[in-house]
Amino acid sequence: MRIDIATLFPEMCEAVLSESILGRARKKDCFSLQCWNIRDYTLDKHRRVDDVPYGGGRGMVMQAEPIFRCYEAVCAQTQSRPHTIYMSPKGKVFNQQRALELAVMPHIFILCGHYEGVDQRVLDEIVDEEISIGDYVLTGGELPAMVVADAVARMLPGVLPEDLCFEEESHFNGLLEYPQYTRPAVWHDKEVPPVLLTGHHLHIADWRFAKSLEETKVKRPDLYADYLNKK
Ligand code: SAM
Repeated sequence: MRIDIATLFPEMCEAVLSESILGRARKKDCFSLQCWNIRDYTLDKHRRVDDVPYGGGRGMVMQAEPIFRCYEAVCAQTQSRPHTIYMSPKGKVFNQQRALELAVMPHIFILCGHYEGVDQRVLDEIVDEEISIGDYVLTGGELPAMVVADAVARMLPGVLPEDLCFEEESHFNGLLEYPQYTRPAVWHDKEVPPVLLTGHHLHIADWRFAKSLEETKVKRPDLYADYLNKK
């Protein structure tokens, strides 16, 4: 899979997406990720990429042309049109299901807005969907783009130490994950639940499922109700 991120701050995304599990997966070519500096595609001699909003009002708006030229450069490199996402607080709120759907796409292009946002005309021309990471407003689309890239990439083959281990995690089957424990077996007088020390896989699986239901019921009654409805 290929992920392209168009931003005014490529170093910000590179710094995060080159580290840890995703950094190692990129080195192993489990997926390719490139960050593009929209400023490199402006025709303005002062490298401006924004201007005041028509109709007045506060702040600046990102211009259509540099974004479009950046998008065209990516299309020219791949000889195809990627699925294009604009990170936006107006978008549909991101979740695990959407991450799974995006993970089977061959190529996604993520546009990060900044300032007051982006000229609507380029959004109308190139964007397939708008995605929000929650009902609040951030200063830019970089953190949201990194959230989407991370959630999508970790489901690709070879990225996690054990493929498909995300299937046991929170939100995959509509439930939250069971509690996790590691050594030592007793810490601050608190013991690890004895079943986890038995090595009995069936009993452990039963215990984990029961705890998963319990966690979801207590912490996310909305998810729990959905889960019961779907059963
Ligand atoms: N004026 C815009 C509005 O009221 O909808 C908000 C612009 S915001 C300050 C600048 C950029 O940050 C947006 O263009 C978008 O790319 C990104 N952004 C902010 N909040 C976001 C969120 N919750 N999810 C995804 N992207 C977000």
